[in-house]
Amino acid sequence: MLAAMPKTSSPRNKACHEGQPEAASAVMLKQAFAPLVDLVYPPRCPICGDAIGEHGALCLPCWNELVIPGEPVCASCQRPFGNADMPAGSLCAVCLAEQPRHAGISAATLYNDTSRKLVLAFKYGNKIALSRMLAKMILARLPELESEWLVVPVPLHFRRQWQRGFNQSALLAREIAKARGHELLVDGL
Ligand SMILES: [Zn+2]
Ligand SMILES: [Zn+2]
Repeated sequence: MLAAMPKTSSPRNKACHEGQPEAASAVMLKQAFAPLVDLVYPPRCPICGDAIGEHGALCLPCWNELVIPGEPVCASCQRPFGNADMPAGSLCAVCLAEQPRHAGISAATLYNDTSRKLVLAFKYGNKIALSRMLAKMILARLPELESEWLVVPVPLHFRRQWQRGFNQSALLAREIAKARGHELLVDGL
């Protein structure tokens, strides 16, 4: 959902001007106000619905279902090597077969049913209060970058952003840029 690029790589500022959004339907209005409603209602785990102490968190059982990648992992894509004794810097078979066109990926969690539900709750459930927790999870796995790097969120089509009310990638990018002291470039892609 995020990309980082050196400041020297002259990103294009791109504005989308295709047509006008459709008239607001009741469903869209409900979606637009859902983040506000989310802040008013008592906090619940976004995955299982159990009551929790604060917004933007998970209950302990759901948190324990998340699998954080542990060493050893592929130096490029962070796929775990399991129990194999691999030296640091090793690449997985997928990355060896086809050289990735990126400088590296940081995976906050491995993909499983719980992480899938967490991302869906954030993207489509209007759980914007999750952005700080998710950013912390990404930051825990993100290597230190030189200060001149920019944090660039992957853009959302303007129609979808209008319907959803926010770009979840931009929320994460803002938290990460703030935490690491990097410059945020929202329109870099
Ligand atoms: Zn839960
Ligand atoms: Zn790999």
